[in-house]
Amino acid sequence: MIRKLVMAGMLVTFLSATTLVFAEDVVVTANGTKYHKEICRLLKNNQNVTKLDKKKAIEGEYGPCKRCYSEDVAPEEQQMKTKQSN
Ligand SMILES: [Zn+2]
Repeated sequence: MIRKLVMAGMLVTFLSATTLVFAEDVVVTANGTKYHKEICRLLKNNQNVTKLDKKKAIEGEYGPCKRCYSEDVAPEEQQMKTKQSN
């Protein structure tokens, strides 16, 4: 009984975390084709940035920045990286 409640609680936490990911804000540059996290080093000298919803950025055909959004970079590219480092 108690175990079931714990499981349900974990599920709720997981679901709200997922929702948070989808509500994430990203930053894009005026001429760029990548979306970034606000803390990305590549944005440091760029004054002309726009904040938008991550989902919209992906719909607008922006790709993930390899530096700050490496977790979003396509798996094929990740594998190539691993191959190179071996
Ligand atoms: Zn970046």
